[in-house]
Amino acid sequence: VHNTTDSKPELFTVQSPNVQYTDSDITSKYTYRTTEVNVTDGKYVASPKETLYDFKTERKVGKVGLMLVGLGGNNGTTVTAGILANRQGLSWDTREGPRAANYYGSVVMSSTVKLGTDAKTGREVNVPLHDMLPMVHPNDLAIGGWDISGMDLASAMDRAKVLEPTLKGLVKKQMATIKPLPSIYYPDFIAANQEDRADNVVPGSKASLEHVEHLRKDIRDFKSANGLDKVIVLWTANTERYADIIPGVNDTAENLMHSIEIGHEEVSPSTVFAVACIKENAPFINGSPQNTFVPGCIELAEQHKAFIGGDDFKSGQTKMKSALVDFMINAGIKLTSIASYNHLGNNDGKNLSSQKQFRSKEISKSNVVDDMVAANTTLYKEGEHPDHTVVIKYMPAVGDNKRALDEYYAEIFLGGHQTISLFNVCEDSLLAAPLIIDLVVVAEMMTRISWRAHGAGEWKGFHSVLSVLSYMLKAPLTPPGTPVVNALAKQRSALVNVLRACVGLEPENDMTLEHKLF
Ligand code: NAD
Repeated sequence: VHNTTDSKPELFTVQSPNVQYTDSDITSKYTYRTTEVNVTDGKYVASPKETLYDFKTERKVGKVGLMLVGLGGNNGTTVTAGILANRQGLSWDTREGPRAANYYGSVVMSSTVKLGTDAKTGREVNVPLHDMLPMVHPNDLAIGGWDISGMDLASAMDRAKVLEPTLKGLVKKQMATIKPLPSIYYPDFIAANQEDRADNVVPGSKASLEHVEHLRKDIRDFKSANGLDKVIVLWTANTERYADIIPGVNDTAENLMHSIEIGHEEVSPSTVFAVACIKENAPFINGSPQNTFVPGCIELAEQHKAFIGGDDFKSGQTKMKSALVDFMINAGIKLTSIASYNHLGNNDGKNLSSQKQFRSKEISKSNVVDDMVAANTTLYKEGEHPDHTVVIKYMPAVGDNKRALDEYYAEIFLGGHQTISLFNVCEDSLLAAPLIIDLVVVAEMMTRISWRAHGAGEWKGFHSVLSVLSYMLKAPLTPPGTPVVNALAKQRSALVNVLRACVGLEPENDMTLEHKLF
């Protein structure tokens, strides 16, 4: 792998008494400004509050590996082929003319952030989000992983039916050399209709400490075989059914470890992967909707100061929802119902045609407007909520081109109505693959950022639960007891402003007073 990550010079530097650059780190002194509100007898008193933090970002990224659980699936093969195509700068012919490799759809690689205003012209200066701090370049990721289907990635890419034949032809040889590692398979957790592809499994059909150790060794072996400094693991395997949360079984770290030891039936493969990664200190991200992160698993991550993030890629329908509902409610329009229908024909759809797996997806898709509704006490009384229904049907003919049909029904001025009907063809894996890249790039970066109260004490990492990944996720996991933000614009601001804080820049406030006050 030709490594450009650490050899690329920084696009900008910050000139400020609060920011120091050394060979190894960027350190910022940052004033975090918030507003504290005291409520008495229905009256509010708001007081500005300032907290001083130091942030330190290691500049050297090193060699990073990405291990996918579900490597041979539609997302796994698409992201792998996409990275190979980008790494080699490939272009290929399509019926619409030539196309070249890009990272469109990746917020990290293909969106920009306003850095500030040009000193001479007063115009906005925007930089790629990827240049805000040192980050791994996806072209430099070593890729590997597991699948219960042993098919090599060239054949698996054909099975997925996602990419243009001309592009497949160019990466076929390399893809054929990648074969997924055998994985752990507990048939009860995924649909019965998946059984015929499970030909590449580690012996044992329930959780065990041997499975944890097996996966840990796979991670270590991958690391040493590729000379890596760190590995990020991401679950893009089938949606599992929910695990029941049972006191004494998975409610604490200790109980969870005991349940793995005795092979308790409520411990899912994804939780076993998470535990292996936590113990190996490899960040683990869950791209599917199931409750991999049972309370005991979160506690284990906290104990090991290991990073976890999830759940469920926010790629198509929900991404639109979290943008559109944010707009409607913030415009003062009273959304009263959302009806969401999907049909899809890929293997994910086949798996979701089974009731228990569908239920995981239904839960993940259902809570996405809660924070926006709760924030508007003018439109919604306490406990009032728009009706919200989610339907998913398996329709083999449409393959990976998922159809998402949504009706948003709202009440407007003086009892009138607004109805928005949306027909969204979500090329599923082509939307999800760039999100995988974003999740990995940001998670890796978070392993290099530390903080402390200004001038005092030890440097610490962020909380184990990486809620900064929320923009890419449908049901964002947050540290226990902390609020979930689903609104898309807020999620992006959180990400961008954390990056800005690390280089000592104020949050972008969009006031543009310089153009308003003459
Ligand atoms: P897919 O079915 O094509 O791929 C999943 C792969 O996981 C398969 O190859 C399967 O053999 C493998 N697998 C199943 N159990 C495994 C295990 N225990 N260990 C290792 N491998 C295992 O599905 P996909 O379209 O690539 O989607 C992957 C996941 O991402 C699904 O859960 C889906 O719900 C979720 N997701 C996808 C999108 C999207 O594609 N836009 C959005 C949100 C969530």
